Amino acid sequence: MAVPHDEHERTYAFAEIALDQMRALSQPASPRNFEIWYHYATGYNPALNHSINQILQQKGLLSESELDQIFNTYVATSRIGDRIDSVNQRVLDEVRQVLETIDAAAGSASSYSESLADAHEELKVADNGDALHAVIERLVQGTKEMQLNNKKLEARLSASRQEIEELEQNLEAVRTESFTDPLTTLSNRKFFDQAFAKAIASANDKNVPLSLLMADIDHFKKFNDTYGHLTGDQVLRLVAISIKQNVKGQDIAARYGGEEFVIALPNTSLQSAITVSDHIRRAVMAKDLVKRSTGERLGRVTISIGAAILRPGDTAQSLIERADKCLYAAKRNGRNCAICEADPEADARASAAPAERVA
Ligand code: GH3
Ligand code: MG
Ligand code: MG
Repeated sequence: MAVPHDEHERTYAFAEIALDQMRALSQPASPRNFEIWYHYATGYNPALNHSINQILQQKGLLSESELDQIFNTYVATSRIGDRIDSVNQRVLDEVRQVLETIDAAAGSASSYSESLADAHEELKVADNGDALHAVIERLVQGTKEMQLNNKKLEARLSASRQEIEELEQNLEAVRTESFTDPLTTLSNRKFFDQAFAKAIASANDKNVPLSLLMADIDHFKKFNDTYGHLTGDQVLRLVAISIKQNVKGQDIAARYGGEEFVIALPNTSLQSAITVSDHIRRAVMAKDLVKRSTGERLGRVTISIGAAILRPGDTAQSLIERADKCLYAAKRNGRNCAICEADPEADARASAAPAERVA
């Protein structure tokens, strides 16, 4: 599949930053170092950036062993499939070790019960103090061994419990990551598709409204062309923050694609959805953008939004298509506005007439 021109530029920009970093820190341009700094340049792995920044702040450079550790922690393990495989392997190892310990404990318990039975028989025939003493001695010895084995089993089970808790957390982190857009930390489309299907089913079951907003950054191509893709990425993060700040717990906000966002609003009428979209739109346009590295003022960005509400018989796709149609009506209508499907402008045929903006 051909890589779009924009994507080419983005990758070259990341590669250049990676090379610059290696040069600045006098590191060899080895594949490992290049991979670390490429990841750093994309900013897709905030934990990696944080870790590197911390070391640089403290010492101003990164040692070979620190680079190794960063590579192993954040780069080598960053493939979700590999990480799940490694968690699976650790769970299997853990289960095998616990089973071995249980087998050993069961073995020693059964030999203890055999020695109890033997002692029982020996006691019946013990006719002097010495014989009695010998039986008791063996019993005490056997009991001590049993106690020791029980302690070992307890310790092993408690270590396993800790290990399994840690593995559970690892799996949860992998799961969250697989549903998160790394650039904006909003949910990704995969998560949205699943959550949206559930939200539709629930709205139909409970007979409550479900609204949908689709938002798209205005003239974003021009912004990228003018200020570069890395600055463009910052704008994507900023729009994501504006969305996060204006939605509630049950709402499902996600990055749907490049510079497009989607927000499902359960229990929300179309009118309330327009109010939410207005808050987001205003939050975005209120931000006076400044390029961090140079202090250059970049002006403001705006977004256009389309809003639609679930109708009987709707599928996820049909509802998304209607919201998307409204989004394009908002673009036709001059951008930086929200159009819902109840607005006359939503109808492409009526769009020739001067339209009154919702926002
Ligand atoms: P409109 O107002 O009609 O939406 O115009 P537009 O320029 O925003 O739309 P167009 O579809 O022509 O361009 C979308 C741009 O979004 C092109 C692409 O470079 C940019 N883009 C998509 N994904 C990313 C990303 O992850 N980072 C950056 N920086 N830019 C992106
Ligand atoms: Mg777009
Ligand atoms: Mg756009």
